[in-house]
Amino acid sequence: MRPGWGYADTKGSGDAKGNGGANSYAGANHQSVKHRNRALIFRAIHALGPIARVDLAQQTGLNPATVSHIVEDLLAGGLARETGYRSSSRAGRRPVSLEINPAARYAIGVDLARNAITAAVVDLSGRVRERLVESADSPWRGDLALPTAGRMVEELLSQLTAAERAALIGIGIGAPGPVSIRSGRYLAPRSFHAWYDLDLVKDLQDRLRLPAYVDNNANTSALAELWFGAGQGTDNFVLLNIGTGVGTGLVLDGDLYRGNHDLAGEAGHLSVNLDGPRCRCGNSGCLEMYVAVPRVLAALRAARGGLDGDVTIEQAISALRQGDPLTHRVFAEVARHLAAGIVTIIYTLDPQLILLGRELSTAGEALLAPVRAEVRRRVFPALRDAVTIEQATLPDAPVIGAATLALREFFQAPLDQPTALPH
Ligand SMILES: [Zn+2]
Repeated sequence: MRPGWGYADTKGSGDAKGNGGANSYAGANHQSVKHRNRALIFRAIHALGPIARVDLAQQTGLNPATVSHIVEDLLAGGLARETGYRSSSRAGRRPVSLEINPAARYAIGVDLARNAITAAVVDLSGRVRERLVESADSPWRGDLALPTAGRMVEELLSQLTAAERAALIGIGIGAPGPVSIRSGRYLAPRSFHAWYDLDLVKDLQDRLRLPAYVDNNANTSALAELWFGAGQGTDNFVLLNIGTGVGTGLVLDGDLYRGNHDLAGEAGHLSVNLDGPRCRCGNSGCLEMYVAVPRVLAALRAARGGLDGDVTIEQAISALRQGDPLTHRVFAEVARHLAAGIVTIIYTLDPQLILLGRELSTAGEALLAPVRAEVRRRVFPALRDAVTIEQATLPDAPVIGAATLALREFFQAPLDQPTALPH
């Protein structure tokens, strides 16, 4: 069975499998094999550690001498560390295990949500080391959000020691909607609060003089779940972030799937009612129009005849859990529409896992159970029995995932990046 290492590009491991012939190739090729093997070992330690050298060799298919040599480099570079002893399958032998040193490098994550900007320093284990949040009552304007994010990051940096600052490897930015990861520019409609065509990367990259990466924050959330949360070891899963809108992160074959124009995963605009109201996207009866938090609250208000004034989603979920019949009826409709969207996703992608994140998902089993029941009624057995529907697990997923955009680049070539740590 293929080990689920939680991130892609073990595809190259075929070349790395103790391919002695590779060593006789030209120097450049030798270098690239070396880099790939280093990356492979580092990622294996990250995903499987604590792990003994002998098990690393077995898991990666590299020969023990190669593993030993690379491990020495990783130890000398401070990227991995030895951690006590662990029982081995071989009687009597208790080899030293290896794990990554989480504090060896840091990445900065910036999550530009509609009403809040979060900036965090994240270590190699996905732990948030420092964090700042700036909330606003109304959606952030893009042209104001970026300078604010820049100031927040500078404030974060001022809280780090010189050694920690030297261990920074890059910055990742999560955007509140569609973004071109190639140009770094925002693809949102022109009307969207001064975000259209904004270059999300340049300002922070220039300010910090660190490599910067960008993606939309449904993708960064999915990346965080893949590396550090409920998606670890799962090659095919779909994350639906249901808050003000519906964000969709697709992980296919162990990596984010972005589509031809970085616009894949707009599941919020799957039609779940052909005769439904017209959506701003042009489609009718979009999923988002039935399950996004403002729509759920509007449905609750309407069901109550507009008598109770405004309720928050927290209050609504609390009423649902306490068995309030009217709230239960409204959420049953939400679950039915959500299930219809999920059914289309399952029939299209055959995923192992559907994760629900953000505000609506905090309803937990009160929402998940009726969604699962409805999906079971609509999907044929071979498919439905192979998919699990769960709540996402990382509350800080968007900002951790933003930082992971930078971490994943580092993991492609550990030891080959500039660093202030001793080699
Ligand atoms: Zn739509």
